[in-house]
Amino acid sequence: REENMLRAEKLRVVGELAAGMAHEIRNPMTTVKGFLQISKENSYNIEPYYELLMMEVSRVSELTSELLQFSKPHAGDVRVIHLQESIQRAVSLAEAEANYYSHLICYEPESEELYVRMDRDKLVQVLLNLLKNAFDAMPEPGTVTITSSRSDEWCTIEVMDTGTGMSEQELQQIFNPFFTTKETGTGLGLSICHKIMNDHGGSIEVQSREQHGTVFRMTLPLATGAQKVL
Ligand code: ADP
Repeated sequence: REENMLRAEKLRVVGELAAGMAHEIRNPMTTVKGFLQISKENSYNIEPYYELLMMEVSRVSELTSELLQFSKPHAGDVRVIHLQESIQRAVSLAEAEANYYSHLICYEPESEELYVRMDRDKLVQVLLNLLKNAFDAMPEPGTVTITSSRSDEWCTIEVMDTGTGMSEQELQQIFNPFFTTKETGTGLGLSICHKIMNDHGGSIEVQSREQHGTVFRMTLPLATGAQKVL
């Protein structure tokens, strides 16, 4: 019986995903198809619309690569990694974009070295996603502050921005696939972050205040001494 319920729940999730996906792919494709059709039937010059059409096609291809993230075998290249170093890497990668928007990223690594068992690229991907969302949410110039800390066998990473924040209603939906408030967003970023953290035995949660900012808090189990030696 429990198995049946699990299967029903899985089917429901797949159904929701499929509906969202179909919608996201059909809309840009309808635009492209429409332009091709009028260009063919009326020899209408669509050159001025190339840019727009390229954007629609890029959106679909971006969406499909993001969807692949969901289907990849769950954890990837899991090993013991240095937490502060991985955060620093994400910060370096995001610096150019931050400068472009006159935003500031503050990260002061704490002195105690922390280790977690995780696919480093995925941790960096999660952080880049949160940083990018923060940049989008902040009037320029804004500040994103990253902290990491330890409590018992867990570490916590916080990414805090000075952005527009979110309403209660938005907050409830942000981890749902395809929920986006952005014109060119896919709404997959945070649901992928959520999946990555879960796959590694961690979690991600959010607190936000409208007009004040948002903080994403992630926790991960620390690697044990024995794991570090391996
Ligand atoms: P996308 O960035 O493509 O919209 P995400 O899943 O990354 O997809 O984010 C979903 C939505 O959550 C965003 O459209 C935005 O409304 C909201 N959001 C995410 N991060 C923040 C943030 N730091 N501040 C305010 N809103 C945010």
